[in-house]
Amino acid sequence: MPSGQDSPGPTLRDTVSPVVHATAFSKLMTASDRSRNFVEACIEAIGAAHVLTDAHDTAPFLTDWRKRYHGQTCAVVLPGTTDQVAKMVQLAREFRFPIVPQGGNTGHSGGATPDASGTQVVISLRRLNRIRDVDPLNNTITVEAGVILADIQARAEQEQRLFALSLAAEGSCTIGGNLSTNAGGTAVLRYGNTRELCLGLEVVTPQGEIWDGLRGLRKDNTGYDLRDLYIGAEGTLGIITAAVMKLHPAPVARVTALAALASPQAALDFLATAQRYAGPLLTGFELMSDFSLHLVTTHFPQMRYPFSKKHGQTVLLELSDSESEEHARALFERLMEHAMEQGLVEDAVVAENLSQSRAFWNLREHIPLAQAAEGLNIKHDIAVPISRIGHFIEATDALIAQAIPGVRMVTFGHLGDGNLHYNVQAPEGVDPESFLAEFQAPVNALVYESVHAHRGSISAEHGLGQLKVAEAMHYKSPVEVRLMRALKTALDPENLMNPAKVLPDVRAPGALRTPDAPGASRLPS
Ligand SMILES: Cc1cc2nc3c(=O)[nH]c(=O)nc-3n(C[C@H](O)[C@H](O)[C@H](O)COP(=O)(O)OP(=O)(O)OC[C@H]3O[C@@H](n4cnc5c(N)ncnc54)[C@H](O)[C@@H]3O)c2cc1C
Repeated sequence: MPSGQDSPGPTLRDTVSPVVHATAFSKLMTASDRSRNFVEACIEAIGAAHVLTDAHDTAPFLTDWRKRYHGQTCAVVLPGTTDQVAKMVQLAREFRFPIVPQGGNTGHSGGATPDASGTQVVISLRRLNRIRDVDPLNNTITVEAGVILADIQARAEQEQRLFALSLAAEGSCTIGGNLSTNAGGTAVLRYGNTRELCLGLEVVTPQGEIWDGLRGLRKDNTGYDLRDLYIGAEGTLGIITAAVMKLHPAPVARVTALAALASPQAALDFLATAQRYAGPLLTGFELMSDFSLHLVTTHFPQMRYPFSKKHGQTVLLELSDSESEEHARALFERLMEHAMEQGLVEDAVVAENLSQSRAFWNLREHIPLAQAAEGLNIKHDIAVPISRIGHFIEATDALIAQAIPGVRMVTFGHLGDGNLHYNVQAPEGVDPESFLAEFQAPVNALVYESVHAHRGSISAEHGLGQLKVAEAMHYKSPVEVRLMRALKTALDPENLMNPAKVLPDVRAPGALRTPDAPGASRLPS
């Protein structure tokens, strides 16, 4: 409680419920009093060093990774323990400041960026960065929300275990952010999304209570699964402060290969063959279109196209073997021989050593960087049933090419999970910014209509944040939206947690459902 002179004093506070009290209390104060008193109370609770208000200090927390969103804040607070997180939530509630949780701020949908009002508080979890426990026999690790993903992987390795979540942002993103976006990454095919890797959570509720659900159990059918509610909620239902995550036996060997194919459909047929040959040993299956690799080798000339002649598609496969490297190599040889005999694979190369394997992965991981170097493009992170990917790409490519002659498609992604990064680059010589200004909305509408027609998802792994709320409301059924809204209202009746993310702010006009796909009418026929 701040010691400000405008405080209504203990009598009022003690005789009314916190919500009524907070409303009355905040009405008695001007906005700047409220903000100042809130900041003072935060400083008293966690120390001045961990309450940032100076524009220079708060700036890195107010812009998202892709620099699409720029917000304002009354303060960025960095609590160091779960109790301190709970205290920050209680204070934010008392002073009526909506909360935006933030981890590594690497998300792709603007979920961790506050709005422009300057009335939202950013709660950064970065200081909750302790590994609380490793239980090798239970194959679990208990970590605080702010632990960097790469640090969990490293600690698992010390115990001869694998922490299977892996993505290109692993040196910066936090496990709390991974859980809140239900991140995917490169090993979903074998180990699942972050949701499948989580056994238990500790959460601070919007009321500032702590729910200790840190159970390392693989079976627990005792009612509604609260854990699964918070995973993928993008900070709209509560703040994850710690988690029990699954570990797996570390593979003895990893062998990587590249295969050249004619089409996405051939890649799908090859996936089915590879799964038949390798079963659970197949841990990665990434598709890269010819143009994606062309961008990489153009903007990063030190990286070489792996084949002597051009092919329509390249697949990066990885086998993780618990027996030996020889075993994995022999398996690869049999698989490639068979796939070439069947005419599925046109050429193939197996990494000879770790550094060659790294070079193969570098090709894949440099696609986003090469796109950025080429200029802005229209990005989509979509999923369709694996069996329909070939048809989706063919049909949607044709529609886009018809509408925008010369357009260049950057199609790549986690084919084994049915997840594509399906990006649309301006025709050669066209200014990317004016291309985006003219075509972003209609191209989005076209792509999402096609995704919907293929019973897919408009956000496979990056969440909705503030980027895709309108589109999600358009494509979800009224029943689904109502159920989501009911959950939000039940858990966060005061709409304090990350408002206007995932679900539209009901106070905004026309927020519940958009009648037409946003931008649908603007695509040239
Ligand atoms: C180079 C690069 C590659 C990427 N590759 C992939 C990929 O392959 N697969 C994939 O799925 N994603 C990928 N991403 C995006 C991915 O979503 C994020 O990197 C990561 O999961 C987010 O973690 P973060 O700690 O940065 O979260 P932030 O960006 O800080 O937050 C993301 C969301 O979670 C909420 N949040 C954060 N922490 C908490 C918490 N403790 N409690 C409640 N809510 C919280 C925020 O409010 C926000 O809504 C990539 C990003 C980059 C930059």
